[in-house]
Amino acid sequence: MKLIFIGPPGSGKGTQAAKLERMRGLVQISTGDMLRAAVASGSSLGQQAKAIMEAGKLVPDHLIIGLIEQRIAEPDCESGFILDGFPRTTAQAEALDQLLQDKGTALDRVIEFEVDDSILIDRISGRFTCAKCGEGYHDSFKQPKTTGVCDICGSSEFKRRADDKAEKVKTRLSEYHALTAPLLPYYRNKQLLRTIDAMADIDEVAGQLNLVLESG
Ligand code: AMP
Repeated sequence: MKLIFIGPPGSGKGTQAAKLERMRGLVQISTGDMLRAAVASGSSLGQQAKAIMEAGKLVPDHLIIGLIEQRIAEPDCESGFILDGFPRTTAQAEALDQLLQDKGTALDRVIEFEVDDSILIDRISGRFTCAKCGEGYHDSFKQPKTTGVCDICGSSEFKRRADDKAEKVKTRLSEYHALTAPLLPYYRNKQLLRTIDAMADIDEVAGQLNLVLESG
């Protein structure tokens, strides 16, 4: 199954993609994670992307399209993948259509994570992850079971994203509305779009997602 998750920052795409990866054996492809790894490694891509990401703006299409082209050609993607954070512009969506067509394949579904902007700033500014295994937590909604210790790997190191600060989140949201939201009609016209209510709690959203994936 080849899926796209579209939604504003903080709508829970990454959380649900990680869950679905574990449950269905699909590969989660997060362009945000790939770019953060590139920045951390100091690669040429990372150097080009760093300041743009810190400002909450979108990285140029040609850089991202090249990254996705390489990633979906890897063998682990053959059994299916979830694109989490890609495409984010019409040019990226058109390039993806072409890439998949060249490989003789196509998308199965595009899932929209619908959330009111008003709750996103709180959702995003409270989140943090385990520095070792990447498990996600939140100050209000999901603390580790033992304070300061990751539930999954036992590490006591956690990190917060620099672009999760409130003023950066505002820029990221306006980038979403200006550049990414136009993809919703693009995929609706192709009859691929399904919308889920991503305001609900994590397990309820996972339930809705399963229903949508089972129901065709
Ligand atoms: P995310 O982790 O998906 O919130 O992405 C973090 C940041 O990485 C975004 O604010 C952008 O600067 C950059 N980024 C991630 N994916 C893309 C994309 N598909 N196109 C352009 N920039 C992206």
